[in-house]
Amino acid sequence: MKRIIIINTGGTIAMLEDQVTRSVRPVEQATFTSILPLLQQVAQVEFISFANMPSPHITLDHMFQLRQLVQEQLNRSDVDGVVVTHGTDTLEETAFFLHLTVASSKPVVVTGAMRSTNEIGADGPINLYRSVQVASAAASEGKGVLVVFNDEIHSAQYVTKTHTSNIATFQSPEFGPIGTVTKGGIHYLHAPLQRETYTIEQIHGDVPLIKAVAGMRWEWYQSLLTQPINGLVIEALGQGNLPPSILPLITQLVKKNIPIVMVSRCFNGHVEPVYDYIGGGRQLQNLGLIFSNGLNGPKARIKLLILLQQIQNFSQLQKLFSLE
Ligand code: ASP
Repeated sequence: MKRIIIINTGGTIAMLEDQVTRSVRPVEQATFTSILPLLQQVAQVEFISFANMPSPHITLDHMFQLRQLVQEQLNRSDVDGVVVTHGTDTLEETAFFLHLTVASSKPVVVTGAMRSTNEIGADGPINLYRSVQVASAAASEGKGVLVVFNDEIHSAQYVTKTHTSNIATFQSPEFGPIGTVTKGGIHYLHAPLQRETYTIEQIHGDVPLIKAVAGMRWEWYQSLLTQPINGLVIEALGQGNLPPSILPLITQLVKKNIPIVMVSRCFNGHVEPVYDYIGGGRQLQNLGLIFSNGLNGPKARIKLLILLQQIQNFSQLQKLFSLE
């Protein structure tokens, strides 16, 4: 039998609903004892408690420490895979952080729940069970970090939380799940063509994310010019365009050599330097903005932070943001 390490970080999967007020709160010590016999039919499981926090409390430091723990476990010769349980709100950011920084072909699966364990239709137990199934499968090796939720297997590169409460919340908008899990087994349908991983010794720096809206004004973000930031990610309009009224901010940041990565606020497609008008993509490219390859804003921020630990060179950053 395969040996799978289950690392708990918290989130709804480790919370309980108050039967009177219906509010959902973390419990002191999260346990998955009710489904342990089922998990043991699939693999030898070992539990590690990393944290027990709601995922809006997760910071970059937590992601880095979690990455160290996951890597340490994968380096063990008696371990075949790792499952991380995590709150769903920032799950895609932690999963992508691990995807970019964990160096191993052994499966790493991130999962969670939309309903706490004592709610009707709780999805935590089945998501954890499915995740252990996926982490134990040879077919899951070398596919990068996977997010298993609601019987679907997603690549951490594309998956995003799409619904505030539905258990089918995790979707990969443009590409769909890379596989499904059923009682009968694991069925992979396709996989990302390449995987990039980076070695990091630490993670620090400030990279804010702003979203473009009609009529936005550069003065809203004046503080970005006075407080030190290491980079900026902008969720731009459509194919990669911005209102002229934000350009004074952009030109001043470019003058200060702050790398600015542009993604689209659309959740499908790439940004490209197509439009040649004031604030259009062609002009933004000439100004020195880095065009990203279909990542969403939070993920482009994670990637920029990771790259900035080693790389400051604009053309190298542009190249790495063009990888598919
Ligand atoms: N707010 C919760 C969290 O991210 C949501 C969840 O886990 O589903 O911790």
